[in-house]
Amino acid sequence: MKGRFAPSPTGYIHLGNVWIAMLAWLVVKQQGGTFVLRMEDIDTQRAKRSLGEALLDDLEWLGLTWDEGPRMGGPAGTYWQSERYDSYEKQLNKWQANGLIYPCYCNRARLQSIASAPHGHEGIAHYDGHCRNLSPLMRAELSQYKEPSWRMKVSKRSYEFMDRWQGVQHEELWPAEDDFIVKRADGMFAYNLAVVMDDIAMGITDVVRGYDLLPAVASQLWLYECLGESAPNYGHAPLVVDQEGHRLSKRQQSITLRDLRAIGYSASMILGRLALAAGLVSRKQTGRFESLTWSDLLVGNIENISLKQKEIKLT
Ligand code: GLU
Ligand code: ZN
Repeated sequence: MKGRFAPSPTGYIHLGNVWIAMLAWLVVKQQGGTFVLRMEDIDTQRAKRSLGEALLDDLEWLGLTWDEGPRMGGPAGTYWQSERYDSYEKQLNKWQANGLIYPCYCNRARLQSIASAPHGHEGIAHYDGHCRNLSPLMRAELSQYKEPSWRMKVSKRSYEFMDRWQGVQHEELWPAEDDFIVKRADGMFAYNLAVVMDDIAMGITDVVRGYDLLPAVASQLWLYECLGESAPNYGHAPLVVDQEGHRLSKRQQSITLRDLRAIGYSASMILGRLALAAGLVSRKQTGRFESLTWSDLLVGNIENISLKQKEIKLT
């Protein structure tokens, strides 16, 4: 049994990240498995090596140690996605050769106009398959003007899987509409491709992450199928949100672990509160469980927290 925590080092970690890290760690430790840390720094514009190093430091302070993964000040190695470009590219080349992916020349304006005129099986925005069946001649012509993105040519699928926290889930894939991007026109590999290839390379059997990634499962199961590998067990944990129901985000300047540390929280206080909440979450048996408010998690010492102004009031 092997699990992982796969954060994107785009800011200092906040309570929502600690929540996921702790759950991933607990799931592994409960089963005597191996815990892997992977830096999802594939988005080279937003992710920073220095923030990754800060993250290592924060996890060590918490005591959520990992058996495999990057080490402070150590070589980047394969646990940083930015170092895995060649493996992703190799796979892409194979799929280009066997026709499992196709180039998409649609520009942003076109994709936005599709999105604003919803169509597709659920009446929500989907790709319209425009570039799926372009002739080779047309492709050659278009490639003179534009670098394409690359899309998976998906077949109709109906997947069913058991989620650790969300119960039995059904997800569908529709040809054309759900043809998802594996490499962007700017050369960046897509999250779905990187995450599945890495989880396979690292032998991950149990994926634990936030509820927001539940809709990505269908695309990822498709990738497992294409790569001839069996899919891992999934657990999509409720997200930590503020009082208005917005998820904590690094961009919105949510209170970070470092802020909590600065006002006197110890690692055991933080993990203790979160572990208590984890017990409650795993006892909830019915329906989907999307979110938890942050004050519910840390209730007791600080109840009056204004996330937006970053003012921390101790009550
Ligand atoms: N890197 C993703 C995130 O920080 C998580 C990816 C995953 O666990 O599949 O949201
Ligand atoms: Zn297109």
